[in-house]
Amino acid sequence: MTRYFLMCQHLTFFNVCSSYFDFVLGFTGDSTLPQYVAEEIMYTVVDLAVHQQRDPWEATVKAFSRNHTVLEHTSVVLVFRDRNNNVLCREIGLHHPPQAALGIHFQFCGNTECRPNPGDTRFKTQFADGRVKEKLRQFCRRCGYTSPWIKVSDVNWVHPVPGTSRVFWHDYPVTGVQLMTFGGGSIEKKMESGPPAKRERQGSESDVVKKSRN
Ligand SMILES: [Zn+2]
Repeated sequence: MTRYFLMCQHLTFFNVCSSYFDFVLGFTGDSTLPQYVAEEIMYTVVDLAVHQQRDPWEATVKAFSRNHTVLEHTSVVLVFRDRNNNVLCREIGLHHPPQAALGIHFQFCGNTECRPNPGDTRFKTQFADGRVKEKLRQFCRRCGYTSPWIKVSDVNWVHPVPGTSRVFWHDYPVTGVQLMTFGGGSIEKKMESGPPAKRERQGSESDVVKKSRN
């Protein structure tokens, strides 16, 4: 019989390492209500208990990547054993700029002096032919920080979920170095509130594009 446990906000390896549970499922969104995620949890459990799926990771990815509405609200963290009996912890999230990039809510400004509030750090995208060629940059509405453009394929610690275009996974939790993926930028202009004006946004983007082409 598969034993599992659901947690909100806090996760631990202990219960999986001790084999008390086969996997632990957690949600990193604020105030994730059970009714938001109940259907996907049911699909996960049915896959494992009824369809004889042996791999909790496969079952969880399949259940949650089918519904982008849930992943817009919360990312999903799974602690589980892989086929080699290693205990792993991974997060599944949705790529949905400007709020989140590559399935991660980077609530951390590239300006290390800045202490942004939730929602202050946002993302712009440059679409290209294929997701891996897409470029992203972070900007902070609190301090005016703007990162360089980063190509999706250059962020090698996030992985697209096969068969989807906007769902990614990565090892959880992310490291300090990974949080600074969008570091190395500069403070262009402080935004008092709301997104930057259209003229400013176009100007700053084209400047960087010219630099990157040179
Ligand atoms: Zn900032």
